[in-house]
Amino acid sequence: MKPTLVLVGRPNVGKSTLFNRLTRSRDAIVADIPGLTRDRHYGHGRVGDKPYLVVDTGGFEPVVKDGILHAMAKQTLQAVDEADMVLLIVDGRQGLAAHDKIIVEQLRKTERKILLVVNKTEGMATSITTAEFYELGLGAPCAVSAIHGDNINELVELALADF
Ligand code: GDP
Ligand code: MG
Repeated sequence: MKPTLVLVGRPNVGKSTLFNRLTRSRDAIVADIPGLTRDRHYGHGRVGDKPYLVVDTGGFEPVVKDGILHAMAKQTLQAVDEADMVLLIVDGRQGLAAHDKIIVEQLRKTERKILLVVNKTEGMATSITTAEFYELGLGAPCAVSAIHGDNINELVELALADF
């Protein structure tokens, strides 16, 4: 069975751009419009002799149910349930957002393995850019640039290390 990597994060952090990188495809819709990706997208990738499946989630607005703000819609949580590894994508240019913390709270309940990915770090000092994200309690973040392809192989190696 191929390990399944599920990309999660608030709108516009670069999930679909990273999906394209990880699958070397143009399947995901990348746009400046938050929430354009309406459904889950599946794609295949491979690093060395290790194949993997990638799922791009996105386009789901935060849901308020019973007065509680849920950061992720049902479809996203279903994808997370099927994940061998969740890649939580955050935006290194915007910095840590309240919405990131809400997503982490929800992810913790699922007891999935989580790898924190700080995107959009091209041209930035990664140790400074990633510092504030340690607060999420997910350990050392992996800094990448989905657009430039920086550190993508290292990211995949980390994500697949246990498989
Ligand atoms: P999604 O909503 O999380 O799927 O985000 P998208 O992949 O659609 O990207 C949202 C915006 O961020 C687009 O304008 C992308 O071009 C931009 N973006 C994605 N990755 C990077 C990156 O590594 N660096 C920079 N500077 N912008 C990026
Ligand atoms: Mg998207």
